[in-house]
Amino acid sequence: MEFGWSDAHEAYRAKITAFLKKTLPADWDQIALHGPGSDAQTDYSRHFCKLLNDEGMLIPHWPAEYGGEDLDPWQQYVLGEELWAVGEPRGGQYMNVNWVGPVLMKYGTAAQREKYFPPIKAGEALWCQGFSEPSAGSDLASLRTLAVPADGGYRVTGAKVWTSYAGHADRCFLLARVPARDGGPAGKAGIVILLTDMASPGIQVKQIPALIGEGDIHEVFFDDVFVPAEDRLGAEGQAWEIINYALQNERVGIPRYAFSRRILDSTVAQLQEDGRFDDPVFQDRAGRALALTEAARMLVYRVVDSRAHNLPPDAFGNLARWATVNSDNGVNNLLTEYRPEGLLGADPMQQAHHQRAIAAGVASGAAEIQLNLAARRYLDLPSGEQRGL
Ligand SMILES: Cc1cc2nc3c(=O)[nH]c(=O)nc-3n(C[C@H](O)[C@H](O)[C@H](O)COP(=O)(O)OP(=O)(O)OC[C@H]3O[C@@H](n4cnc5c(N)ncnc54)[C@H](O)[C@@H]3O)c2cc1C
Repeated sequence: MEFGWSDAHEAYRAKITAFLKKTLPADWDQIALHGPGSDAQTDYSRHFCKLLNDEGMLIPHWPAEYGGEDLDPWQQYVLGEELWAVGEPRGGQYMNVNWVGPVLMKYGTAAQREKYFPPIKAGEALWCQGFSEPSAGSDLASLRTLAVPADGGYRVTGAKVWTSYAGHADRCFLLARVPARDGGPAGKAGIVILLTDMASPGIQVKQIPALIGEGDIHEVFFDDVFVPAEDRLGAEGQAWEIINYALQNERVGIPRYAFSRRILDSTVAQLQEDGRFDDPVFQDRAGRALALTEAARMLVYRVVDSRAHNLPPDAFGNLARWATVNSDNGVNNLLTEYRPEGLLGADPMQQAHHQRAIAAGVASGAAEIQLNLAARRYLDLPSGEQRGL
């Protein structure tokens, strides 16, 4: 891959940075520190996404027929890098534009797109992702939430956990399973995707206190919740294909390395100002962190390049996710060395990075699983089970 930014890409980046400079409030760092699911950041995201849309930068990479501007995948990444580097003012709405919308474009009905796209485009919609359950995380296919076919739809009963943004979300991209004919647990083929209205009777949301910030993760309970058939995405039996498509988008959807690099640079600058950067321990940690953030950036660019050429997903998507988690950890190692007393009261952005980095290797699926997927799908290596482990 030969890589260099074109003049158009550089101009686009400059447009975004100018917009951020003009738009972000003076206390934005404090808002970001509350966490991506907090009241403060959610309120701000609704205001910010509207302004972003007015500038044509909320969904610029969407096809024009859906209200986007047909921009190339690189421009989407430039936008993601710049927004993530300042702490992601879109809050949970980044999911709408990165993967909820694209999944609906590919698998949704015209009626679903008509229903869900206007609030996304207006910067008003907040979705949550109801995948994980108390005994189904990495092994997602073992999920148990039941969707029993009923007159005109499904009746859903079960529990989800670690659901980000559920406290504020209007819709849940919910995975449940229809009962197998023999009454036993069905496999992947039994999963359905229900685009569930979070205001439906029978849904209870309970916040879980979390290091990542206020209001970020939740338990969500479904007690005989009715979901109309028109809110099912795709056919019964098609869900696993759709989930894989959604996860491919989500895996490299967050350019974490951009935020890590910003924090790395600011921390090194502080160490230099304090006259402490001569210490070989700091130099070692900073050097490693720089190598990790650059490795993550390059691996993600490899994935973007494939997308720009319409190539099918390959192992680089899994490796890029693994590398971005490592870049977060590399910068966190420097930060904890720099402030062994803890980051409370530190620069708000350093603290926000620290909080988000700790969760990064588990949120969006445990990073270790990416190595399993790459080994099995692309290197043809046997699984532990096949090796009798
Ligand atoms: C901040 C945060 C936000 C989240 N947001 C959401 C959300 O919005 N929606 C949602 O549905 N979920 C969400 N999650 C849940 C997340 O997707 C799960 O935590 C993740 O998939 C791991 O599942 P688990 O917690 O059950 O851990 P487990 O699957 O039990 O894994 C525990 C550990 O075992 C390792 N492990 C498990 N199986 C294997 C294997 N086969 N090979 C090697 N190692 C293995 C894992 O790597 C991990 O280190 C969030 C989690 C966090 C921390």
